[in-house]
Amino acid sequence: MTKTTLRDGERVLDLGPPGDAELRFIGRIRTPFATRADCPRQGREDGPDCALELLPELAPALDGLAEGFARADVLYWLDRSRRDLVHQSPKSDGRVTGTFALRSPVRPNPIGLSRVRIVRREGHVLIVRGLDCIDGTPLLDIKPEACSFSPQAPLKAADER
Ligand code: SAM
Repeated sequence: MTKTTLRDGERVLDLGPPGDAELRFIGRIRTPFATRADCPRQGREDGPDCALELLPELAPALDGLAEGFARADVLYWLDRSRRDLVHQSPKSDGRVTGTFALRSPVRPNPIGLSRVRIVRREGHVLIVRGLDCIDGTPLLDIKPEACSFSPQAPLKAADER
């Protein structure tokens, strides 16, 4: 965890050592962004091509993705974030907001989520647009934007009850 300087009004909590969720990194994300300051706050579909470089042995897990979907949700581990803030002041103006009311990279489990446009697949690499992370950020998962397991909108009748 990288402990950045606290801003006015920010609040830290000592949560103790993290439990082990037994996550494994499935690869690395290659982006043109060398530092946090180079990254956009959120990715954009008209942003630069970025590469999801999976472990080569996971290449078969990409079968069907680029062929079947235009977009995917990418989950990644924002590995340079501190993890101990419960109140944050993103604008450094003394006004604070709870961590779970923010998309800040600073959170107990620093998981980033971006919906990306799929450009093409090159073997074990998926080229996408719409990311906002530093080059080398660990990759956690990729999911197609929608499939039969996605939550469905409630039926209209149920809405009105
Ligand atoms: N799109 C994701 C989300 O909404 O969950 C992440 C949003 S977060 C605001 C994106 C910012 O995280 C970037 O602008 C950059 O400042 C920071 N960031 C990018 N890569 C990082 C990394 N590997 N570790 C820590 N912070 C990172």
